[in-house]
Amino acid sequence: MCLTCVLPMMLPGAAPTPFATDAPEAGWLGRELGGRITWTGCAGFLMELDGTRICFDPFASNPGVLDTLLRPARPDRGLIADTFGQVDAIFVGHTHFDHAMDVAPLALANPACVVHGSATTTEICGRQGVGDGQLRTMTDGAKVEIGPFTVEAVASRHGTVPVAGRIDVLELRGTGLPRTVFRWPRGQVFAYRVEVGGVAIHLQTSAGIEDAPLARQRPADVLIACLAARQGTARYFERLGERLRPKVIIPCHHDNFFRPLSEPPRPVARLDWPGFLDDAAALSAAHGTRLVQLPRGVAVAL
Ligand SMILES: [Zn+2]
Ligand SMILES: [Zn+2]
Repeated sequence: MCLTCVLPMMLPGAAPTPFATDAPEAGWLGRELGGRITWTGCAGFLMELDGTRICFDPFASNPGVLDTLLRPARPDRGLIADTFGQVDAIFVGHTHFDHAMDVAPLALANPACVVHGSATTTEICGRQGVGDGQLRTMTDGAKVEIGPFTVEAVASRHGTVPVAGRIDVLELRGTGLPRTVFRWPRGQVFAYRVEVGGVAIHLQTSAGIEDAPLARQRPADVLIACLAARQGTARYFERLGERLRPKVIIPCHHDNFFRPLSEPPRPVARLDWPGFLDDAAALSAAHGTRLVQLPRGVAVAL
């Protein structure tokens, strides 16, 4: 990297880089609930308050490209336990491996927790030995209460992935598990709205939009937005912003999930970070939205 590239990053007020290393300043939410939120990588989040811990799209195993294309899923149970620990509930946006392949091992390690997701998600967890008592199939608008958290499923759509989109597996067929990681099926896609302590957090777990369920949404304090594969969704941030009018936007699913979590994050393919900064600036101008970045793997005050 040349000096002209490095210098602007060192100057005060320089544009943020894709991956923060420091936690945002206290008060980033405008108020403190006394809880914690962790971006665990990809679309994964852990939220904790008053002793209750819920997670979304928990994924830590990050198989490499060859393992993804050629081998069945081999979840890293030790790393999953280290990353998520004890959880009371798991919510899954869709069943692709980078959102769902670590869900069943995490559920089996937490026998009191319930997995919430599409029929495809609950079916694939059942095939890995998770009992019916730990599985709840969600439908659009369904709400569950877990301790201080109320979580609503919001039907949504997947982002458009060039080439891969044409050979994507949509539903789980036959018996057993997919032969390779890449063949994990998409199933129904959900966004989630979390309400906790008077704060609303909307998790757009994939970069597509289903208009009617989004139109039902009230404004949210925080928009957590998937950046990967958003280019095929027209006016993605504009439409989310018009409906949710978020005070804060937190980017996610912008790290390359074929690399292990133990290595520093690198951008996902086609990230277009400058384009995202333009979109974040437009949200700021339209709704006063502030860009907040969570360092990967660091619990931040909520
Ligand atoms: Zn996906
Ligand atoms: Zn994904």
